Amino acid sequence: MGYRSKTLTTPTVLIFALLGCQSAAAEQEHFFALFDDETAIVAPTATSQQDPALEARLDELMDGDLVPSNRSALNELLRNVDVDTPVETFVRAQGYQVLTLALEQKLPAALAIANEVQSIAQKSGNPNAIAEVQIDFAEIYLANADYAQALVEAESVEALLPDVTNPRVRYHAHHLIARTLQQNGQIPKALEHLLAAQTLIPQTEPSEQQRRRQFLNLHLARMQANLGRWEASAQTAENAISDALRSGNNNHLPELYLVAAYSRQYAEGPSNEIVAAFLKAAESGRLLDNPRVEMLAYNNAGAAKLLMSELDEAKLYLQQGLAVAKEIGNVNERSVTEFNLGYIKVLQGEHEQGLEEMLAAAEVFNSFAQKREQAILLTHIARAYEVAGNYKKQAEVLQQQVEMTSELATEEREQKISELEVRYQAAEKSYEIKLLEQQADLQEQELAVKQRQQQLFAVAAGSLILLILLFAFGYRKTRRLNALLNDANNELHEQSLRDPLTGLYNRRAIYDRLLQDDKRLYTGDHALFIIDIDHFKTINDKHGHSVGDEVLIEFGRRLRQAVRKTDMAVRWGGEEFLIVLEHVNSEQVLQVARKLLSDISGKAFHTSVGRLHITLSGGCNVIASSRMPPNWEETVKQADALLYQAKAEGRNRIRYQLPNNEPQTLVVR
Ligand code: GH3
Ligand code: MG
Ligand code: MG
Repeated sequence: MGYRSKTLTTPTVLIFALLGCQSAAAEQEHFFALFDDETAIVAPTATSQQDPALEARLDELMDGDLVPSNRSALNELLRNVDVDTPVETFVRAQGYQVLTLALEQKLPAALAIANEVQSIAQKSGNPNAIAEVQIDFAEIYLANADYAQALVEAESVEALLPDVTNPRVRYHAHHLIARTLQQNGQIPKALEHLLAAQTLIPQTEPSEQQRRRQFLNLHLARMQANLGRWEASAQTAENAISDALRSGNNNHLPELYLVAAYSRQYAEGPSNEIVAAFLKAAESGRLLDNPRVEMLAYNNAGAAKLLMSELDEAKLYLQQGLAVAKEIGNVNERSVTEFNLGYIKVLQGEHEQGLEEMLAAAEVFNSFAQKREQAILLTHIARAYEVAGNYKKQAEVLQQQVEMTSELATEEREQKISELEVRYQAAEKSYEIKLLEQQADLQEQELAVKQRQQQLFAVAAGSLILLILLFAFGYRKTRRLNALLNDANNELHEQSLRDPLTGLYNRRAIYDRLLQDDKRLYTGDHALFIIDIDHFKTINDKHGHSVGDEVLIEFGRRLRQAVRKTDMAVRWGGEEFLIVLEHVNSEQVLQVARKLLSDISGKAFHTSVGRLHITLSGGCNVIASSRMPPNWEETVKQADALLYQAKAEGRNRIRYQLPNNEPQTLVVR
């Protein structure tokens, strides 16, 4: 690239680029055309490297984490920045321009200017200037969600660091590297750099220290949440909130409220208090003009209500979140909310419509989400199918989910973070008067976090909000959430207790239940049914095995419907089922028996070959509370004998025996 202009100063060009041409190509063309002159730009001299007046003015303007918010003031200042400006100040001022473009997603324009600035920095040989441009490159890619390229650039920054003397540049380098590593899932190393950035804050401009600490604490809280260290994350965010309120520096207040509520929820489970905290975050987002936080906060409030099974309220908040998402035109993140709303429909009985909406939202979601996130979605889709009574689909989706999760599990790595985290926390607290007190707290927190693992994972397992977290923090590439793995494990365990075809419990589940000597089982009468489909073999023989399967699925669904949620319906073998009714009197047993017979024989089974008529035979043994728990094996045998008699008597009947009674037969016509 040739620089052949002496008269034309770079700032003019930069401001022009900022005004923005529509197409990237046009921008670049114009940019280079302006340089198309005969004389080379003279690089700023290496002797005077900072302009104190301009630096002071930049400090004054600087009110954001990366760029000043007052663009016209920055542009005004840039008019005084030219080839004669000392190179460090030159690069800093131009860097703000570059980053402003990058944050507006004007990638080509940002890169073009950064390239020019880089040549000038390199010609100067000034390590501070060279490193700062390199930082700008990494920031450009971070802002454009190209995390892989950002990592490449950040590695170059790290290589340049030993020669960098300017504390502001060193500070920026470290938190840039930390954020890049975080996006690439390298959390321990990220924490290391966060710590390094933190130690540099006192050397930077005093008026900016509060803002910088808030910024770092927000990232720390996110990393902690990312690692499933909910208590520590909530604590970090809550401390930062107190700081913010005390100092009146509320740059990150909405995000901090959001993270605090989010991590609190994981630490303690959803509650109305947590919902209120999310609503506060939403309010703060609205007041401080951060619609993204507002949207996420409403979505999380809705998800919390969903977890609390308060569906109408959940819907209300999710719809509020959706409204904000539509306002800011956020199609991707909207899909999570739409997914949740569909899920609520399924839970409220609108199975088909709800599932349709869930699947449509999932399609959008999968187009940009990571595998890990897609796997979570599958869990919830499987649950929805279960609620809708479609166990075959449920099993299919679970299978898919298990495959995806096991692929991901192989990518998991141990995270060694606690020592770093403690170091960070300790350093942070050295700024506070409460140092000692808080350090003791920290130890306690660490302990509490460990003790709560189980509880936390339980929350994680049922939680849709995880998805929202991933967006909230932009952890598109982070896959280190222990809780997620646990979610999958819970699902696997649950699956191991289910019969994949019918979704009913399997033999193992009933053994687990009956043989665990549950004290509750000792009170009240119990009933055990063995049910067998009549002439099932002829269905297979006449219509094929797959039609037999269809009948089994529908049969299982009707069985489940005929009993209470707390009763166990089990697929005992091929076309044999076992039902255990807990705490029932004789009248209730007969009611269930009648219902079973009429539910099956009274309504045709719709199959792919048309309507089929099915009947069942059953044996039922009632155990008096005084004989609880019985010898279950013996009890099953007796029920089996009664079933055999029912078959012999002509099928489509249940033969039962009440305590201290002769066996009787129930026939429903
Ligand atoms: P009965 O009225 O005496 O019970 O006659 P049946 O035909 O129902 O009893 P039998 O035990 O002779 O046949 C049961 C059939 O169930 C045989 C087996 O192939 C079929 N079966 C077992 N498991 C499955 C399954 O998962 N799917 C299908 N389609 N058929 C199955
Ligand atoms: Mg049989
Ligand atoms: Mg049979």
